[in-house]
Amino acid sequence: MKDLYCNLEKHLHELCLMPSRHVGSPGAAAAAEYIEKTFRSYGFTEVKRLTFPATGWRFGSMIFTDLDNNSAEVPGALPCFFSQSCDVTGVPLWLTENDLTDLTSEKVKGRLCIIELIRGALDVRGRNGIAEDLDTMGAAAAVFIGTSHDTNSKLERSPVLKQIGCATVGEAGSLYLSRNRNHRYTLKTDAGTFPHTACNVAAIRRGTGGKRAVFGSHFDAAPLSQGACDNASGVAVLLETARLLKDEMPEWTFEFAGFDAEEYCLGTSQLPLGSENYVNGHPEKDWAFFMDFDCIGAHLSEELLYVGRGEKLPAFESIYPLKPIRNGGDERNFDRLGIPTLWFASCPRFQKFHTPADTIETLDISRICRCVSDAVKVTHQLCR
Ligand SMILES: [Zn+2]
Repeated sequence: MKDLYCNLEKHLHELCLMPSRHVGSPGAAAAAEYIEKTFRSYGFTEVKRLTFPATGWRFGSMIFTDLDNNSAEVPGALPCFFSQSCDVTGVPLWLTENDLTDLTSEKVKGRLCIIELIRGALDVRGRNGIAEDLDTMGAAAAVFIGTSHDTNSKLERSPVLKQIGCATVGEAGSLYLSRNRNHRYTLKTDAGTFPHTACNVAAIRRGTGGKRAVFGSHFDAAPLSQGACDNASGVAVLLETARLLKDEMPEWTFEFAGFDAEEYCLGTSQLPLGSENYVNGHPEKDWAFFMDFDCIGAHLSEELLYVGRGEKLPAFESIYPLKPIRNGGDERNFDRLGIPTLWFASCPRFQKFHTPADTIETLDISRICRCVSDAVKVTHQLCR
C-alpha cells in the first residue's frame, strides 16, 4: 500500500507540473513520454504509440485590458481552447441570446463581441456555433461570459475557427465587464491552431487464452489548467492498475491505453478523438470490457462506478455505488460498439473541471489508492 501511495503521488506531481497538456502542446507530448517510460519501467515489453491526425493548438499570450480604467486587466480572463490570434480595441458589442438571430457582417465586422447567454444555446455546440458564425462574419473577437465562478477555458472550443480570437471570463471578469459596458477594451491574443499528429500510448500484456480487456484514461487536459482531477488522477490510476495486473490472470490479454485528444470532439460522431482512433485501429473489437479512469479522488466528492451494458458482464461487486452509463468521455466510443464499460469517477462538491483551479491540492491520494484497489478487485471478478 505504501508503494501504491508513493507511486500515485509521483505520477500526479510529474503530470501536474507539466505545462498545459492540451492537444498539440509540449505538455501533452511530455505526458505521453512519461506514460511510455513508466510502462517500460513496470516491465511491459510491448509498448506502442498509436498516432492519428488532430487539430493542435498553441498559445503564446493574451492581454485583455480596460483602456478607460488605466489599462486595468479584466480579472480572470483566459483564451478559449482553439482561439486564433486577434488584436482589437473598442467599445464591445454586447450580444444576448435575442441578438443572435439577426447578426450580420455589417454589425460585427472587426468588432470585439461579448456574448452573454441566459437561456438556450448554453451547450458547447451552441457556443461553438456562435463563435463559428461570428468568425465567418468577420468579427475580430468573441468573449464568452462565464457560467461558473472559475474561468473555464473549454467554455467555447471550436477547432475550425479561421481568424477570430475567443476568450472567456469567470464570475469576477463577467461582473467587471457588465459594470463597465461602455468602456473601451483591448484584447490581444497570440494563439492558433495547426495540423498535429496526436498519439495514444498503449502497453499490452499478451495472454494465453483468447480473451481481451482494455483499460484507459486520457492524459490530455483542458488548456491552461493542471488538469489534476481531469485527468492526471485517471492516468495515475491506469499506471498503477497496469503495474498490479501485469502478472495476474495470465490467460487474458490486457491493454492499458493512455488516450490523447479526449478534451474536445470533432466530426460526426462527436466522440473523443483519441479513443475513437484507438477503437478504429483495432479491427477485431472483441474486448470483453473497457475500464475507464477519468476524474478520480477529489476531496469531498461522491465516488461512483458508471456501468454500461452490465447485462453482458458477470456479477461483480465494487466498493462504489453502481450507476448507469451517462454522457461521459472515452467509454462512449466502446459503448457504441456494444462493449460493456466501467467508468470510475468522482463527482466533486466543488466542480473545478477545465479551469486553472483543477490543481493537485484538490486531490485526496488515499481515495485514489482505494480506486486502484477496487479496479484490481473488480477485474479479478470480471476475469474469473
Ligand atoms: Zn476527463
